[in-house]
Amino acid sequence: MNMAALESGRGVRLLNPEEDHTFSLDEDSMNQIFGRDDVKDRYVVVLSVAGAFRKGKSFILNFFLRYLNHKYNLKDNGDWLGDEKVPLKGFSWRGGSERHTTGLVLWSQPFLTTINGDKVAIFLMDTQGTFDSSSTVKDNATVFALSTMLSSVQIYNVSQNIEEDDLQHLQLFTDYGRLALENTSGKPFQKLELLVRDWNYAYEYPYGAGGGAQLLEKRLQLQNNQHEELQSLRRHIKECFEEIGCFLMPHPGLIVATDPQFTGTLADISSEFKTSLRELVPMLLAPDNLICKKIAGQLLKAKDMVHYFKAYMTVFNGSDLPEPKTILAATAEANNLSALSESRDVYEYLMEEVVGGSKPYLDQNSLEQQHERAKNKALHAFQAKRKMGGTDLESTYQDRLVKEIDEQYVQYRANNDAKKLLNFTGTPMILGSLVLL
Ligand code: GDP
Ligand code: MG
Repeated sequence: MNMAALESGRGVRLLNPEEDHTFSLDEDSMNQIFGRDDVKDRYVVVLSVAGAFRKGKSFILNFFLRYLNHKYNLKDNGDWLGDEKVPLKGFSWRGGSERHTTGLVLWSQPFLTTINGDKVAIFLMDTQGTFDSSSTVKDNATVFALSTMLSSVQIYNVSQNIEEDDLQHLQLFTDYGRLALENTSGKPFQKLELLVRDWNYAYEYPYGAGGGAQLLEKRLQLQNNQHEELQSLRRHIKECFEEIGCFLMPHPGLIVATDPQFTGTLADISSEFKTSLRELVPMLLAPDNLICKKIAGQLLKAKDMVHYFKAYMTVFNGSDLPEPKTILAATAEANNLSALSESRDVYEYLMEEVVGGSKPYLDQNSLEQQHERAKNKALHAFQAKRKMGGTDLESTYQDRLVKEIDEQYVQYRANNDAKKLLNFTGTPMILGSLVLL
């Protein structure tokens, strides 16, 4: 199999833990990945895998990578699972002696495709160390929360069964989600997929999505004798996500689970596991099943991701876990900031067309007119976007937009004036004066 395209990517650690239990964001890498020219204006599918440490998250993500590469890079509709003897590459898995830190790792090369004519970029996100005993509860909750907030599909990787604890970990988002539901349109989150690994009770519920749906229904069932808190958690989980699924994954076999020499070759993986991979991966990533990231009912573009990353980093870097209302406020800020930056781009685009570097000098009146026209279009674009956070926040950002546009106009005017000087007092005139001398 030609893996060249896949090997051009790598896992990039965007979130790094610091000694004091805060996180630092690798902004340069983030800007590079989401700001790439052929990526920044695309809608995004962000698939994340989160859950406890050493439960095969990175391992399974590498099968997602294999599928994505096959389908969207090589554009091959044949068998994607590949050769029996090829080692599994991509996100670092197994860890071995490597120290495991908490963090968030993004695949550097998104996979590009179109959905109903819209250009889309598919990103894979790996999380590390979640619920690992050596990290603090806050570190883990932060990574889990960030990956849920920033993904359109969150795969919650759990071991052997869905326990009450696994559901409890969702509490932070459901609290946030409820608040978001009251204040914004659209559901706060798109898809949650509980992925149960090493499912041992196929005689009770069969492997795959069908058995998963049955187990999930049972676990999310409200019962009269349940404590009110457990009941409300279950209700809210359902409310906050557009879609919730569960998939029961068979055990991959003893070699995968125990052999230190195992390199990830299919030959060493149980056939039930491979059969389930063939069901699971296209179910999440086939063209018809892709889910684009939305916040407050609006589709996000790759360049918007940067604003949300930064905003969430700020609120999650406090000494305690943020209150849901703080997370909501950060979301609203990032949402307005995205609208501002998109509208500023509209102004710039229109102005570049008439007074860009390669364009001739424009007289003062025409320049003024063009500026007014571009500014109005930009303001219109800003107002047309549905925004979170109420009218006060919106008008703050609108004022900021006007200020930034006016500043930019000063720059355009100066550049335009410089052209005039060149045109009228350029080389010929200097030559002329030389001749006169
Ligand atoms: P992560 O920490 O969750 O990312 O786990 P890794 O993907 O690094 O895998 C940790 C170990 O689990 C590796 O040795 C894998 O071979 C093994 N492994 C992968 N998938 C499974 C699975 O479904 N069940 C079991 N029991 N082990 C698995
Ligand atoms: Mg891992």
